[in-house]
Amino acid sequence: MNINYIHPADQLVMFMQRIYDKGMTTTSGGNLSIMDDDGNMWITPAGVDKGSLTRNDMVCVMADGSIVGQHRPSSEYPFHKAVYRMRPDLKAVLHAHPPALVSFSIARVCPDLDLLPSVRKICKEMQIAVYAVPGSEELGDNIGKCFVDGCDIVLLENHGVCIGAADMFTAFKKFETLDYIANLEILAKRIGNPKSLNDSAFAVTTTRDHTRMDDFIPNSHTTEELAARRDMITLIRRSYRQGLFTATQGTYSVRLSDGSFLITPYDQDRAYLEEDDIVRVKSGMKEQGRTPSRAVLLHQKMYEMHPDIHAILQAHPVHAMAFVVTDAPFDTRTIPESYILLRDIKRIPYGRNYVDHEGTSAEFGPACPAVMLENDCVIVTGESLLQAFDRLEVMESTAHSIINASAVGNIVHISKEEIDDIKVAFKLID
Ligand SMILES: [Zn+2]
Repeated sequence: MNINYIHPADQLVMFMQRIYDKGMTTTSGGNLSIMDDDGNMWITPAGVDKGSLTRNDMVCVMADGSIVGQHRPSSEYPFHKAVYRMRPDLKAVLHAHPPALVSFSIARVCPDLDLLPSVRKICKEMQIAVYAVPGSEELGDNIGKCFVDGCDIVLLENHGVCIGAADMFTAFKKFETLDYIANLEILAKRIGNPKSLNDSAFAVTTTRDHTRMDDFIPNSHTTEELAARRDMITLIRRSYRQGLFTATQGTYSVRLSDGSFLITPYDQDRAYLEEDDIVRVKSGMKEQGRTPSRAVLLHQKMYEMHPDIHAILQAHPVHAMAFVVTDAPFDTRTIPESYILLRDIKRIPYGRNYVDHEGTSAEFGPACPAVMLENDCVIVTGESLLQAFDRLEVMESTAHSIINASAVGNIVHISKEEIDDIKVAFKLID
C-alpha cells in the first residue's frame, strides 16, 4: 500500500483508528495532522470520540487560515501549527498519550533508544519539551524549539509525545517503535538491568545482503505456494494484532517442497501485507521486483542445514524481549508446556546472526527449536508454520508469566527429575 495515494482525511481516520485500537490513546486524547501539497492542514477534530471517527469529521485549516469542516480543529492545533512553521520539511504530526510513554513523561526521562538496532534505526533522537498548559501557545513554542533543532520526536513533560515526519506512515512507525521500546524498558527493569548498544555494535547491523541477490522471474505458482502465502498473511496479521510484530519489524519464512522458500518483504507495513507482497527465494535468487527481509541469507542457511525446519519466525514479543535485553535467565523449566515446546533456550551473543550465518544456524536442532539473540530478537523454528507460531506464542506467554510471578512470590522451578519424567512422557529427544 502506498500511503501517498490516500486522501489526507482518510489517512487521519486510518491511523487514528489504529492508534486507538492498540490502546495508545483514549477517546478524548491524541490528535493527528497532515499538511497537503497546497499548504492546507488536515487535522483531527476537537471533542469527537476517537474510536469512531469518519472522514467527514476531519477539519481542514486552509492556507489562508479559514476552516472547513463540521467541527472545531483539535485543541492542540497551536502546536501542530508551530511544528510546521519551524520545519517545512515535515508533512505529518502525530500526538498521543500511550501509557508507557506517558510514564516516561511523568518521570521526565526519555526511553533508551539504544537497546535494539531496529529501534535506533527508526528513532534516532528524542528531546523533552518543557511543561506548559495543554492547547496553549506556550506549549507550541516549547515543542517548536525542540523541532527547530532538527529533532523529530519530542516527549512532552507530564503529557505525552509529539512526532513529526515526511508522511503519516513514517510518523506512525516512529510512534509505534517508541511506544514499544518504552514498554520494553519498563518490563526489562522489572527483571534486570537493560544493556545499551554502542556505535560499533550498531555498525554490525548495516549489512545490505538482502538487496544484492540476483532476480528470477517465476513462471508459475503452485497451489502449495499459494496456500503458504495465504497462511503466512493470516498469521502475520494476527502477529501484528497481538503485538508480536511492529509495523515493519518481524520476519516469517516458510519452506516449499521444491527447496525454495517464501519470506516477508523488507520495510513494508505488516498490518496491510497481501499475498503478493511475500517474496519467493529460489537457489539464492529473489523474485524479481521484490526486496526480501534483511534476514533472508540467515533463513536460507538454516533451511540448507536443517531439513526438518519448514518455518522460521523472527520476532520481538515484548515480554520475551525483556530477557533478550537483560541478563535475566529465561527458564522454560517453569511450565511443562513451555519446556515441551521450547526446550532450553540458548542465548546467542549480539551481532552473530549478521556476521556468522552458519554458526548461528548450527545452534538449532531437535532439542533447540528456539533461540534468543541478545539485544536483537527471538528466532523460533517449526516443522510447520503453525507449530513455529505456537512456539512463539508460548515463549511470549511464558515470559509474561515469569515476569508477573516475581511480583507475587518466589519462582519455583520444575526439578531435574520432573523434567526427566516430561521427556519420557512426551518422547523428547536430546
Ligand atoms: Zn495531548
